[in-house]
Amino acid sequence: MKIVFFGPPGSGKGTQAKLLSSKFNIVHLSTGDILREKLKDGDDLSRKLNDIMSTGNLVSDELLNKIITQKLNSKDCFSGFILDGYPRTINQSNFFISFLNKKNSHLDYIFDFKINLNLVQERILFRSQQEKRSDDNLTTIKTRIDKYMEETFPVSEYFSQKFANNYFELDASEEISKIQKELIKILKKEEN
Ligand code: AMP
Repeated sequence: MKIVFFGPPGSGKGTQAKLLSSKFNIVHLSTGDILREKLKDGDDLSRKLNDIMSTGNLVSDELLNKIITQKLNSKDCFSGFILDGYPRTINQSNFFISFLNKKNSHLDYIFDFKINLNLVQERILFRSQQEKRSDDNLTTIKTRIDKYMEETFPVSEYFSQKFANNYFELDASEEISKIQKELIKILKKEEN
């Protein structure tokens, strides 16, 4: 199963991706997690990444497209993946769609986590206390939400039209278990 998750920061898509990944044994590719791992290297690249990520801005398309190409070409992803946090810009979206076309591959599901942006702010602030993420503070939250609206929202709109038959909206303000049930219901219904 090849799945893409869209949704603003704090919409809970990472949590849902983890749950789904362990239930169906599909690779969870979170570009945020991959980049946070890289931060630990302590080299020049990690310092540059830290400067960008700690302000809530987006890392270059070039680096993200390279990371994703490597991951999607790896054996682990042959049978499927859940993409969480990519594509995030029109450039990434074009790159990704042409990557899939070249491989004669297609997406099975696109899930879009819809949520009120004020609720998102509250959630991110709460998460900052739990996970101690350096990009979870009030100053950067606004930038991250703005980036989502400017760069990623148009991509999700494009996907909703291009892949209309495989595109599903979720109410991300609901509880974790309810959203999980809804997701599984859609996956099962479509399989029958
Ligand atoms: P996330 O955990 O998905 O909220 O990502 C954390 C941070 O990593 C983002 O605020 C960006 O700085 C960076 N990032 C993650 N995915 C991407 C992407 N696809 N394109 C550019 N930057 C990204």
